[in-house]
Amino acid sequence: MDLSLSPEQQAFRTEVRSFLQDALTPAMRQGATLTSGVFAEPDVYLAWQAALNAKGWLVYFWPKAAGGPGWDAVRRWIFETECTAAGAPILPGMGLKLVGPVLYTYGNDEQQERFLPALCSGEHIWAQGFSEPGSGSDLASLRTRAVREGDDYVVSGQKIWTTQAQFANWMFALVRTDATVKAQRGISFLLIDMASPGVTVRPILSASGDHELNEVFLEDVRVPVANLVGEEGQGWTIAKFLLENERGGTGYAPQLLADLDRLTRATTLTGELADRAVRLRLEAEALEMTELRTLLEIEQGNPPHARSLAVKLIASEVRQGIEGLAIDAFGMASLQLPAERPFHAADAPALVGPPEAGLAAARYLNARAWSIFGGTSEIQLTIIAKAAVGL
Ligand SMILES: Cc1cc2nc3c(=O)[nH]c(=O)nc-3n(C[C@H](O)[C@H](O)[C@H](O)COP(=O)(O)OP(=O)(O)OC[C@H]3O[C@@H](n4cnc5c(N)ncnc54)[C@H](O)[C@@H]3O)c2cc1C
Repeated sequence: MDLSLSPEQQAFRTEVRSFLQDALTPAMRQGATLTSGVFAEPDVYLAWQAALNAKGWLVYFWPKAAGGPGWDAVRRWIFETECTAAGAPILPGMGLKLVGPVLYTYGNDEQQERFLPALCSGEHIWAQGFSEPGSGSDLASLRTRAVREGDDYVVSGQKIWTTQAQFANWMFALVRTDATVKAQRGISFLLIDMASPGVTVRPILSASGDHELNEVFLEDVRVPVANLVGEEGQGWTIAKFLLENERGGTGYAPQLLADLDRLTRATTLTGELADRAVRLRLEAEALEMTELRTLLEIEQGNPPHARSLAVKLIASEVRQGIEGLAIDAFGMASLQLPAERPFHAADAPALVGPPEAGLAAARYLNARAWSIFGGTSEIQLTIIAKAAVGL
C-alpha cells in the first residue's frame, strides 16, 4: 500500500529508519531471521526490547496515560511496517500486549507500580495461563481452583499450551474461585509467581521440533490475594477484554508483507508459484487496509466496523499460504528439519541454502497453529456469522 504521507509523517518515518539502523544490531537481526516460531526467544529479543524501552517506543500501542508515546494510527502503522521490513525480532505478546493493558485498565495502583515497569524492562517475563485440557474454545469450563485461605488463594489445577512458560517468571491465569455460580461468574484473574512452590513446567515439543509450548501444573500454590486483578469473579470480563487485544490489537499485515518480500527476494518464483505470491500479496494488502481503517475508527472514538472481526482469520490463512508457498518454492531444500534448537544457537547445525529455505519446514509446521491459537478459525467464523452477517 502506498499512502501519501504528510511531510510530518515522512519525517517520522525517516526518524524510525535511522533509529532502526542504529539500534537493531546484526546479532538481533540474525536471531530474528533464524526464529521459526511465533515469537523470538529472550536471548534474542531482550536487548531489542531494552533499546525500544530506552527510546520510549516499546509500548507504542498503549495510551499515553499508561506510558505510550501517544502516536496516532498512521504513526503506529509506519513504525510496524518499518520494524518488520528491517527484520526486527518479534516480541512476545503475553506481557506487553495482553497483561499490560489488563493491568493499566483493571489493576490497582500498587499492581500497576509493581508490574508495569518490570514488564517493560524485561525483568518480568509473562506467560498466559488460560487454556486447560478440555477447556480451550470452551474456556469458561476451566477447572483450575483457587480457594481463599486467609491472605492467600491456594491454587490447584493444570494449564496447557502455555507459550514460552519455560522462560516466564510470572503467569497470569484464569482460575475458578466459585463453583456454585454460572461458569463465567465464578472465574477470577490471578497473577502467579512462577517461582512459587507447587508450580511445575513441562515442555511440549511441536511437530516442527520447536519448544514453544508447555504444560503448567499447579499443586497447592499459594498466591497472595494482593495478586488478584479486579474483583473476585470479574475474571471473565477481564479475559474478554484481553482476548479482544489478542485477536485485534496491532496489525498482522506488516509482518505478512515483510515475510512475503523476504521469500520473493530469496528465490525466483515463476508460473503457478508466482500467481500464488501475487494472490497472497493482494490479500495481505487488503488486510492491511482493513487494519488501518480499524485503527482509524478506534482513534476517532467509533466502535470498529464488523469487518475487523475477520482480521485474525484472514491473517491466519495468509500466514499459512506464505509458509506453504515457501515449501513448494524451495523444493528439496525446504525439507530439512534438524532436531537441534534453537536455530540461532551458536552450535546449531548449518542449514542448506538461504534461511528462508532452511527454516521452511519448521515454519510451515508451526504456521498450522495460527488457525488454533487466540481462538480457532471455526470459532472466529461463528463470531463473524453472528456479529457481522447476523446469522
Ligand atoms: C501455538 C499455540 C500457542 C498457544 N498459546 C497459548 C498460551 O500461551 N496460553 C493459553 O492459555 N493457551 C494457548 N494456546 C491454546 C489455544 O488458545 C487453544 O488451543 C485454542 O483456544 C483451542 O482450544 P483447544 O486446543 O482446547 O481445542 P478445542 O477447543 O478442543 O477445539 C478442537 C476443534 O474443535 C473445534 N471446535 C471447538 N468448539 C467448537 C464450536 N463451538 N464450534 C465449531 N467448532 C468448534 C475447534 O475449532 C477445533 O478445530 C495455544 C495454542 C497453540 C496452538
